[in-house]
Amino acid sequence: MASIFSKIVAGEIPCYKVAEDEKNFAFLDINPMTPGHTLVIPKKEVDYLFDLSDEDYTSLQLFAKRVALAQKAALPCARIAEAVLGMEVPHAHIHLVPIQTEADLNFRNHISLPADEMASIAARIAAEMK
Ligand code: AMP
Repeated sequence: MASIFSKIVAGEIPCYKVAEDEKNFAFLDINPMTPGHTLVIPKKEVDYLFDLSDEDYTSLQLFAKRVALAQKAALPCARIAEAVLGMEVPHAHIHLVPIQTEADLNFRNHISLPADEMASIAARIAAEMK
């Protein structure tokens, strides 16, 4: 069965899309730690980040770098934190979290933003993609 993230890539489940390239896809985390918390994933379904081939891992990380630079340009933040857990969804993904302080990277903390604000944040990041 396809993962929930494969269904997002296929357009079968909605998401706040940020960017995509041939191999990779980025969208807002539905339970963000901070505004602009984004997930970057390979389109090909692989359980865990470190199961990816060197080529696909490198492609995903270079894509994540482009997304992080766009987040930094679009949102007020000091840094973009990168984190990998993979405890919940068995489809490789990297969390990119805009943070002001270390305390902002807290996987027990989530904020809820209205749909129009999520859409606006995704569009602002997308507009900064190089
Ligand atoms: P983990 O596998 O532990 O890295 O966590 C999976 C992450 O995916 C969590 O931060 C969830 O909020 C996020 N998530 C799960 N389902 C969706 C979805 N349909 N759209 C966006 N983010 C999701």
